Amino acid sequence: MTLIVQKYGGTSVADVGRIEHVADKVAAARRAGHDLVVVVSAMAGETDRLLGLGKGISLRPSAREMDVLLSAGEQVTIALLAIALEKRGIAACSFTGAQVRIRTDNAHTKARILAIDEDKLRDTLAHGSIPVVAGFQGVDEAGDITTLGRGGSDTTAVALAATLKADECQIYTDVEGVYTTDPRMVPEARRLERITFEEMLELASLGSKVLQIRAVEFAGKYNVPLRVLSTFKEGEGTLITYEDVTMEAAVVSGIAFNRDEAEITLIGVPDAPGAAYRILGPISDAHIVVDMIVQNVAREGRLDFTFTLHRNDYTQALDILEANLKHMGAKRVIGNDRVVKISLVGVGMRSHSGVATSMFQALSQAGISIRLVATSEIKISVVVDERHLEAGVRTLHEAFHLHEPPQQDYLPQPAAMRKGGATG
Ligand code: ADP
Ligand code: ASP
Ligand code: MG
Repeated sequence: MTLIVQKYGGTSVADVGRIEHVADKVAAARRAGHDLVVVVSAMAGETDRLLGLGKGISLRPSAREMDVLLSAGEQVTIALLAIALEKRGIAACSFTGAQVRIRTDNAHTKARILAIDEDKLRDTLAHGSIPVVAGFQGVDEAGDITTLGRGGSDTTAVALAATLKADECQIYTDVEGVYTTDPRMVPEARRLERITFEEMLELASLGSKVLQIRAVEFAGKYNVPLRVLSTFKEGEGTLITYEDVTMEAAVVSGIAFNRDEAEITLIGVPDAPGAAYRILGPISDAHIVVDMIVQNVAREGRLDFTFTLHRNDYTQALDILEANLKHMGAKRVIGNDRVVKISLVGVGMRSHSGVATSMFQALSQAGISIRLVATSEIKISVVVDERHLEAGVRTLHEAFHLHEPPQQDYLPQPAAMRKGGATG
């Protein structure tokens, strides 16, 4: 018998009608002879609503209490789905994260899973019943409820699949799989039949929220067969897999974007050892995560230093730097919290040069100027003005012919012969 872990996201359980639909799907899979464990998210919008209630009372609510609050959303949907399954004559039993002992560290609101106790799940399965497990939550050593960060139900599902050595982990959502870019932004976006873990990890970390990054990490590490599919339309979805010979031979597989960016520049920093440390030390002391860092060549003993960060941290970071201006010896600090990041991702970049050049050319033809660039082996990211986001993503999607299956190695312009990876 095959064991499948299925996860249904917020829009898939948005109301009672949809929960009944999910129950029909689960019942059909059960009747087809599969053993099943089902993970559900809170109803669409519910986690945001709860967040708003907490923040409405206090601007700085304690993370422990926020976790108690936020975990309530999933407690509602597990019970409703179990009730809907029972109504269909399918034995099911709902469990909170604590009940199946999804043990995490105590980093409230962004906890990491440490271990999962299989016994309860195995027991339930052995009785022919379907465990319906609350996504996004766990319990720490002290017995306190924790949550796994936004989108964390994906990670619950993959972690359960890894623990139970499931045959497949299926992530059911409101689109038909992983696309070349967010199909809500670019209607021509194409569903990928397969994508490598590496590419999916980059897309997730660069802003594609179709899968939580930790879920992809986990699946890659424990080799969990992972598939993204639609709750509402039949289909094969997208398989996330290790690279193999049958993979589509695209240079660029997908485009990710992130709206939550901000950029800060320190002007006229004295060029001396320790300059970057003096700037970023107080920022990391405040637990602010920095993304891209660009330091230019010094002229007349001074340089400019730019970095990007999450928009939510922008004001705090500016305040810290203003207060430290003297210590750093910088002339002034400027910033912009109306910027976004657009990234091209593809394992094919390793063996192809000219991708960056083609990207810059396409953006320049669309009249979009680039503020910052960062590259790695399989991605190129640019920071641009917020108002250019949609045009930028659409332009690149078209320039790299992502709407059609890759026929051959494709670049918009003949590139230099040098093999150069993303930067060539
Ligand atoms: P769920 O509530 O099911 O977890 P999410 O909203 O977290 O669903 O993730 C699905 C959404 O991810 C889609 O509705 C889509 O807008 C967005 N998305 C972003 N990038 C992509 C992509 N490359 N492929 C598919 N969906 C994407
Ligand atoms: N309900 C949580 C959220 O909205 C977890 C999830 O849906 O994956 O982030
Ligand atoms: Mg999600």
